[in-house]
Amino acid sequence: MKICVLGTGYVGLVSGVSLAAKGHNVVCVDVRPDIVASLNRAQPHIHEAGLPELLGKVIAERRFVATLSLEEGLTGAEAVLIAVGTPSLDGRIDLQYVRRAAEQIGTWLKTAGTPLSVLVKSTVVPGTTDTVVRAILEETSGKKVGEFGLGMNPEFLREGNAVEDFMNPDRIVFGCEDEISQAVLEKLYASWHCDKITVNTRTAEMIKYANNCLLATQISAVNELANLCFEMGDIDVQEVMQGVHLDRRWSPVTEGGRVRPDILSYLIPGCGFGGSCFPKDVQALRTLGRDYGLPMPVLQSVLDINELQPLQVVRLLKSCMDSLDGRKILVLGLAFKPDTDDVRESASLRIIRSLVQEGSEVMAHDPAAILNAKKELGECPVQFVNDWKPVLNGADAVVIATRWNDYGALARPEIAARLDDKPVVDARRMFRPEDFSNAIYLTIGRRPLKD
Ligand code: NAD
Repeated sequence: MKICVLGTGYVGLVSGVSLAAKGHNVVCVDVRPDIVASLNRAQPHIHEAGLPELLGKVIAERRFVATLSLEEGLTGAEAVLIAVGTPSLDGRIDLQYVRRAAEQIGTWLKTAGTPLSVLVKSTVVPGTTDTVVRAILEETSGKKVGEFGLGMNPEFLREGNAVEDFMNPDRIVFGCEDEISQAVLEKLYASWHCDKITVNTRTAEMIKYANNCLLATQISAVNELANLCFEMGDIDVQEVMQGVHLDRRWSPVTEGGRVRPDILSYLIPGCGFGGSCFPKDVQALRTLGRDYGLPMPVLQSVLDINELQPLQVVRLLKSCMDSLDGRKILVLGLAFKPDTDDVRESASLRIIRSLVQEGSEVMAHDPAAILNAKKELGECPVQFVNDWKPVLNGADAVVIATRWNDYGALARPEIAARLDDKPVVDARRMFRPEDFSNAIYLTIGRRPLKD
């Protein structure tokens, strides 16, 4: 089956390459010539485990090509996946790229002889596909849904594990406005053996938002508890959460022993969530709710807590340093989470900006995200380092802002010994206090003993 994918970001590229690996013929279309050129050289422009190898394989098998030409992508295709970005604009979903993609596809549909299903894969607020996208497609093509297919197929992959998630999803949601799109979605994912549910497009859209909003809610709820533990003193929220995690509703007890589900990783205190999805998706659903006259207090609180959470790191540092002015702070981790180069809405960048405002001299490291962080931070004076170990001695304090495995080395005795009673802020709960007998170990949700 020939498939066209519009947009080659984390979702479009991983979807396109994975669908090609499953035997489809995929043409990925992007508006950026640099991205298209590097993809055709089998060099992904994003950092994702397994992606370079899979891209090389599907290119060699002639099942994948990237192009700037929408016509090349759509000619002969049975389905087109819209996988363009849906950023936030003043707390509201910005549909400009989705609208543009729909216009382009609609214009092509006007003269197209072959049947095509348009499938929205971008995360769009409930009611977008069956109103905005449908109206644009019908207006620009002069055809009605039924003459072409219209569906919505939300994507749940997690950056850092994107290929694996796409290949082995928990479920696939088919949102359909008509029978053509349903048949095409079933054919598209025929070789995936997982739960598949078929719903209307606005339900499909809501499943994606409900999923992200509930996950983000867990994070902010734990962070609120962490902040209370910090205020009270003599409580480590990590111990509290260990006790909570043992509830069998979080960690079921089976014959094989206790199951430790992934959800527990959302129930760990930290410096807040970031990334290109949670912050914008929670904002977009909050705003959509308000458009319907609902105040949406839960989602607003999730955002409020998250907004302030990175500042806990600055507060922790201030609790044991008289002033941060002129102090050299080494920040480990720039990506919003490990195993990705994505820095969008990263808590680490908020921490860095606050430290710079306090007058600190910031040195920063990340195994994959330095280039993106440089672009995002612009003029903000930061010294980026390719190796963090040599600069450790020159730092007055260390902040672990992203849970990269690489930073586990900090607790190795020969490295920890070099910390020399400096403050170490473990903003991601990577370590145990006893790992740093030679440093002042500080972390979210545990008031330092000196305070
Ligand atoms: P991205 O910003 O990384 O990539 C979007 C790409 O679309 C860019 O390369 C851009 O050049 C291209 N583009 C824009 N307009 C175009 C057009 N008219 N024709 C062709 N290409 C065009 O975005 P992303 O992170 O892949 O996210 C895409 C969508 O998927 C968003 O709605 C997002 O919320 C959703 N989503 C993202 C993730 C994730 O982890 N990143 C997970 C699930 C869902």
